[in-house]
Amino acid sequence: MIPMPKAQETVLEIDLPALKHNFEYLKSKIQKDTKFLAVVKAFAYGSDADDIALYLQDLGVDYFAVAYTSEGVSLRNAGITKPILILHPLPISFETIIERCLEPSIYNRKVLDEFLKVASDKNQIKYPIHLKFNTGLNRLGFDLEDLETIYSKISTSEAIHIKSIFSHLAASEDIKEKEFTEHQIKWFKDITERFTTVFKYKPLLHLCNTSGILNYPEAHLDMVRSGIGLYGFGNSEKENKNFVPIAKLKSVISQIHHIAKGETVGYNRAFKSEASITTATIPIGHADGIGRQYGQGKGFVIINEKKAPIVGNVCMDMIMVNITDIDCKEGDEVIIFDSAHTAENLANAANTISYELISAISQRIKRVIKK
Ligand SMILES: *Cc1c(COP(=O)(O)O)cnc(C)c1O
Repeated sequence: MIPMPKAQETVLEIDLPALKHNFEYLKSKIQKDTKFLAVVKAFAYGSDADDIALYLQDLGVDYFAVAYTSEGVSLRNAGITKPILILHPLPISFETIIERCLEPSIYNRKVLDEFLKVASDKNQIKYPIHLKFNTGLNRLGFDLEDLETIYSKISTSEAIHIKSIFSHLAASEDIKEKEFTEHQIKWFKDITERFTTVFKYKPLLHLCNTSGILNYPEAHLDMVRSGIGLYGFGNSEKENKNFVPIAKLKSVISQIHHIAKGETVGYNRAFKSEASITTATIPIGHADGIGRQYGQGKGFVIINEKKAPIVGNVCMDMIMVNITDIDCKEGDEVIIFDSAHTAENLANAANTISYELISAISQRIKRVIKK
């Protein structure tokens, strides 16, 4: 075994071989001719969108998606040449979308009118767009009843072309909601059938996110969209075993304090010691994405293989952890999460989900890419 380099600061290590493993596992769940879209919004769920997307482009993903136009522009600047779907574009960015060959999700009549106008003004012919339909998430999307209106708006113009139609599942990870998910799948099927009748051609169809891929093989259709699975989480104990979390967040002990019985630790004196304890101060705080909900003993870090709970309130740039029973010294490595002590476990301890914890890791923390 190669000895681990000593930690000197807080870093987020990103393991590209783990990403490859997750991608291959997800690919093994879909048919050969089903396209794979990688969701790399929010800095690839808090990791590093450029490095992740470039690596996935080499591995052969067919499509990328981000939430906002600015994220798509960054990917283009980094050298991504594959199609990029913008899931939540706002009309102010429509010119940029066309200039950078990004493909908007069009989700209501207002946005359709505005995109049509910009595409026509810029003399576009058959510019690719993606129609988003609402099938019960009630977040973004047209209703089935909008189809005829969409047709009448689009068929009089050469400017745009519907490349895909899609929807999003509300609870694909929750087996208790199977009936609702099956209802969404049926609803989407009705929309696509009606679309084909009205438009007389069939665009690409896609519906499944990561848990949709794992739990609803009958709904894979022409393309699947995965985010969290690529980053190493399967949204269930059973599926988590098939994935490897790609990110390791580690830090270092800056200082150790001996706290006498009756003393307090941190802001608001939120922790009052009932015994004599030892604490370690770690350079990571709520400005780095470890929110205050992890304080007061809910969250923990790992030092020399042992759990050290967070003591008192999380500060902006620091946490203090209880190391009374841990053999350690200033300068020792601290693991906030990795593939064994996962972000999901830490997130669950504070009543939240892996998605929130990993995507909140701030840009202040240095990223290190492991090839
Ligand atoms: C974020 C997002 C996804 C990815 O979902 P995961 O659960 O992370 O796989 C897929 N589709 C849409 C529309 C999204 O917003």
